[in-house]
Amino acid sequence: MAGKDTAPSMQVKCHVDNCYYYKNSMCHATSLEINPTGDRKAQTSEGTCCSTFVNGSNGPHYTAGM
Ligand code: SF4
Repeated sequence: MAGKDTAPSMQVKCHVDNCYYYKNSMCHATSLEINPTGDRKAQTSEGTCCSTFVNGSNGPHYTAGM
């Protein structure tokens, strides 16, 4: 099992289906930025936020590799 000393590489399951990077319940962004919300000190997962999100509601979803 890889620890924190190895380069990060993971698949991100996501259900924000109106995000531009969303496809088939997975994130297809090349990198992600997650930040705390509210008072900037997360206490639970609800205090975190995907800052890479791009609203795809008014445009095409990610299509590369289709
Ligand atoms: S950028 Fe964030 S919100 Fe969008 S698909 Fe990826 S993890 Fe989900």
